Amino acid sequence: MTHVVTENCIRCKYMDCVEVCPVDCFYEGENMLAIDPDECIDCAVCVPECSANAIFPDTVSGLEPWLELNATYAAQWPNITRKGAVPTDADAFNGMPDKYHLYFSPRPGRAKQ
Ligand code: SF4
Ligand code: SF4
Repeated sequence: MTHVVTENCIRCKYMDCVEVCPVDCFYEGENMLAIDPDECIDCAVCVPECSANAIFPDTVSGLEPWLELNATYAAQWPNITRKGAVPTDADAFNGMPDKYHLYFSPRPGRAKQ
């Protein structure tokens, strides 16, 4: 089991989650984060930190594509352990539907360590 970052993180990227993860298993894309499913210990402390409500346990039905996306990009993106600059327009994208098709970027972020 693991937790996964899902669609509403895209272009919100508040990054409060990375500050609390005890095993530093978040990875930064250009406009969202991913959790490495092999490193996550399922402690759930990141869940209430996410003001975009974007982190769920992978036992929630329908999240298989997001689990795959998290595994794929956690292997490609840089590790992030400290909160960086939040996008200035993050609040405007919080809750917007269909963000994956509109805005998902496979490019890596520039994690500040
Ligand atoms: S706190 Fe939520 S929205 Fe922010 S980066 Fe983490 S998962 Fe994404
Ligand atoms: S559930 Fe725990 S170990 Fe997994 S990403 Fe969240 S804080 Fe890190």
